[in-house]
Amino acid sequence: MKCPTCGREMKSRVRDYDYVESGLKNVVLKGITVHECKHCGEVLPEISNVKQIHKWIAEYLVRKQGPLTGDEFRFLRKALGKNAREIAERIAVNPVSISRWECNKVPIGAQSDRLFRMTFILGLPEEARMFTESKCLEIARAVLQRRTTTAARKPRSQRIEITPRRSEEEDRRAHE
Ligand SMILES: [Zn+2]
Repeated sequence: MKCPTCGREMKSRVRDYDYVESGLKNVVLKGITVHECKHCGEVLPEISNVKQIHKWIAEYLVRKQGPLTGDEFRFLRKALGKNAREIAERIAVNPVSISRWECNKVPIGAQSDRLFRMTFILGLPEEARMFTESKCLEIARAVLQRRTTTAARKPRSQRIEITPRRSEEEDRRAHE
């Protein structure tokens, strides 16, 4: 494969890739093909199932025990396809709060965090939802049972590891 930047030949190898394009600093895609140009430094990951990968990340975040970080909030908001004003209306806060959270200036309150997760799960019309009806209910229950008093109060982003190839197989098996 030719480098789109300098036109020279790229080297391809299978490796772990920090998926910063997601807007999150802590997502690692394990064992994907990455094309690298040693002449100009261009790096091109081969990510064929972006939609599916974003769904896995979303499910991980919405089920996360600790509070959401600003980046994680933004990721989920974008996955919903809503702007800050629309989300502010849904969860009954001032739009200014949303931008403060997303810039990590102010931590997201426990109630807003919970209501936002519920909005994420159930806030879209059924046909546009990311998960099936039964999965939505299962995740919603888990969100309501999350202990906010004992979970770490400080938002921390843990490393999210996704193995696209293996996860795809697991997903397929789960639907059989
Ligand atoms: Zn190049």
